This record gives sequence, C-alpha cells and structure tokens, in this order.
Amino acid sequence: MPIKSIYLTIDDAPSMHMGKKVAFLKKHSIPALFYARGEHIKKYPEQIINAINNGFLIGNHSLSHPSFSTITLQECFDEIVATEQLIDECYAQAQVRRPHKVMRFPFGDRGAGPDGAQAHTERQLIHVQQIQHFLKENNFSQIIFGMHKDSFTDSFIDSLWDWDTQDYKSKHIQNFMLYLERLNAFCDTYTSESAIMLVHDFDGNHQLFELTMQFLMAQNIQFLDYVFLTNNMLPKNHCC
Ligand SMILES: [Zn+2]
Repeated sequence: MPIKSIYLTIDDAPSMHMGKKVAFLKKHSIPALFYARGEHIKKYPEQIINAINNGFLIGNHSLSHPSFSTITLQECFDEIVATEQLIDECYAQAQVRRPHKVMRFPFGDRGAGPDGAQAHTERQLIHVQQIQHFLKENNFSQIIFGMHKDSFTDSFIDSLWDWDTQDYKSKHIQNFMLYLERLNAFCDTYTSESAIMLVHDFDGNHQLFELTMQFLMAQNIQFLDYVFLTNNMLPKNHCC
C-alpha cells in the first residue's frame, strides 16, 4: 500500500453534525478544509461559525449545487457570489478575518462536465476560462497540495480530488462493511503516496465520517496541511 498521506476535504457543509466533525478533527489535530454549500449555510449558519472559530477554513461550493457546464455564465457567477456573501457573513459573525477564498465546483464541473472534464468545444473552453478568470479577478487562492503529484502542473484555481469515498451513497450508509471494503480497495490499487480525499458533510451520513477517520488512523495515514497561492503569486502564464 503506497499511500502514506492525505489531504482531507469535506464537501457540502454544513450539516447538523458538522460540529461533531469539527470537534473530532480538532481533538486529533487533523487539518481539513470544508467546502460549504450556500443553501446549507442558510440552514445551519451556526455550524459554519463554530468551524471558523475552531480554525477551519471555509471554501465555496456554490449556492444550489448545479453543474456549472449546464448553466449560463451569469448564473455561474451568481452561484459563486451568493455563497461568498454567506461565507463572509459567517466570518463577520465569528469576528475572524477570512484568510483565503477557495473554490470547489459541484461534481468537479469547471464548466465542461463532471470530474474536471476537459473542454471539447470552443464554446466550452471559453465558458471554463471565463469562470476561472472570474475566480482570479475575485481573489480566490489556488491550493498547493505540497506532496501531491499534480500540485505544480494543475493551473486551475479551484481544486479537484482523487479519492472520492462515496460516503454519500445509500448502499454505503446502509452497509458499513461494504464501505470499508471500498476504502481498502482504494488503498490496494492507488499508486501514489498522497491523495486528496473527498468526504461529505450531510445530515444522513455522519456515521461514515468517524469510520473513515478511524480507518485512516488505523493505517497510520498522515494528514497533511495546505499551502495557498494568492492571485499575485500565481505564475504569469496562468491558464486564464
Ligand atoms: Zn458537492
């Protein structure tokens, strides 16, 4: 099993159980990044404020979780801006200066399809570039996953992942053994030393969070921290 370390990312926050995740991570000194969905922030703003007060960074995961390849450019901007306002309000409430703005698109759809799909048409390419340009203009930071294989070749400002635990699937929520088998299978077949792991913060899947953490700790997998590249540190020939 070559995998030795992971960067932990948690999408679709907040849920009603986010506070338990925050407490667990804090107790074990595990760095993690929460990407919040605007509609969920409206429901549980106190959960985001609590995470901020415990030192966790809150990233943008859109307002209503659309596929950015299927909506207009203006709708993409509106999704990002509306969520930014909600996140900013939480930082203001927490009386903490927001250190970085980071983005993860729903389904990893940067504007050309899920999982970071590449643009196949000129129109898609422009759509993707305009969204990236918007992030840059609005001072979003790129995360450098220091130990990670793609860190210095990926020119996009948002972040994808390479280990999707699929902890949102009902077959895994109903069958922990099946879920653990999936985690094991990933470790058996993954060939790099580090991975960016994706877990989810939903109301209905909290049990899988602690199970995941215990699995990782039992394997002695290390949790790595993040480095951020701000706009003026980005390379000159940056993608957009
Ligand atoms: Zn999501």
